[in-house]
Amino acid sequence: MDCIVCQRRSGYNRAVVELDSGRELGTLCVRCEREQFGEFSDELGEPDATTCVFCDRDAFWALPKWLPSTYETEGKVVSFVDYDPSTAALALCDEHFDRLGVEELPLHAPDDAADQRILGQTED
Ligand SMILES: [Zn+2]
Ligand SMILES: [Zn+2]
Repeated sequence: MDCIVCQRRSGYNRAVVELDSGRELGTLCVRCEREQFGEFSDELGEPDATTCVFCDRDAFWALPKWLPSTYETEGKVVSFVDYDPSTAALALCDEHFDRLGVEELPLHAPDDAADQRILGQTED
C-alpha cells in the first residue's frame, strides 16, 4: 500500500477510509502524518469520527490507526493489524481532506482491502 500523499510505501500507519461506504482508499505514512498534522494527531480528544478535526463540518473521511493484535486459532498465534473507522479520532471534511495534497485516489478499492491483514503465523 502506498501513501496517498507522497506515493511511497507507507507500511501500516493510518488507513484512509471513506466513512459513507467504509471503503479503504489508501494509507497515510508516518512522515506525511507528521507533516500534515504535527503532534496534533497525538493530542486528539474523544474518538469521534463524525466531525472534521479542523472545523465543524461533517467528516467524510476517517484516518484510523492500524493497531497490531493477535488471536489464537488451532493452537497457533496469529498476528494481524486492524482498524476501526468509527472510533478514528482523526476525521476530515472534504475540504480539509483536499488540503492534504492527495494526488489521486484509486477508483476502485483494492480487492484485498479486508478488515484484517495477516502478518504472520507462529507455531505455538
Ligand atoms: Zn506519505
Ligand atoms: Zn474541515
